[in-house]
Amino acid sequence: MTLKHPRQETYTPSEKSELRIAILRVGTVDKAVIQVVRNGLHKVFPRAVCTVVEEIMPIPQDAYSSTRKQYNSSRILARMSDFMEDRTAEHVLGITDVDLSVPDLNFVFGEAECPGRFAIISLSRLKPEFFGQPPNRTLFHERSVKEAVHEIGHTLGLHHCRNRKCVMFFSNSLPDTGHKEANLCERCHSQVAKHISPS
Ligand SMILES: [Zn+2]
Ligand SMILES: [Zn+2]
Repeated sequence: MTLKHPRQETYTPSEKSELRIAILRVGTVDKAVIQVVRNGLHKVFPRAVCTVVEEIMPIPQDAYSSTRKQYNSSRILARMSDFMEDRTAEHVLGITDVDLSVPDLNFVFGEAECPGRFAIISLSRLKPEFFGQPPNRTLFHERSVKEAVHEIGHTLGLHHCRNRKCVMFFSNSLPDTGHKEANLCERCHSQVAKHISPS
C-alpha cells in the first residue's frame, strides 16, 4: 500500500552510505518478530543499521474507528512523526499488532511515505489465526519480513512493481504476499542500489 504523505515535501534523502532504520513498536509487539524483521531488512539492505526504539509508542486512540473496528494507518503515521521528533533516524518502521485501514480500503497490511521517512506495518492479518487457521510461526515471520521490506522500499522511493516475485509487488491478499519473495527484483534493486550495494 502506498499513500503519499504531506511531510514528504520536506524529505531529502541522505547521501550517506548507511541506511539508518529505527524500528518503533506501536503498542505491544512480540519480541521475536522484531528480531526477525530486523534480520530480514538487513539481508535485503546490507547497509541498513537497524535499531529498536526502546520506548513503545502507545497506540493512538484518535486513529481508532469504532464502526470499522480498525485503526487509520495515516493517522498513526502522523503520530509516529510527532513521537520521533527528537530522535534521529533516517527511516522509521512502525510495527503494530492492531488491524489497519485507510478510508478507501477495507484493510491495509501497511502504509508508507513514498519517498519519505515513515512506514508502518500491521502484523494482525499476517497471522494465520486471524483467519481461524492454526498458528504458523514460520509463515508469520516470512510475511512480516516481506511487508517490512516492502514498506521500507516505499520510503526509499520505490513504487509498486509488476513483477509478482518482487517484494514491491502490491499485495492485496495473503496469496499475493506468499507468492512474492522477500527480495527486490533486478529493476527495483538498481533503483535503490546505493542503499543496498556494499561499499
Ligand atoms: Zn505498497
Ligand atoms: Zn521489482
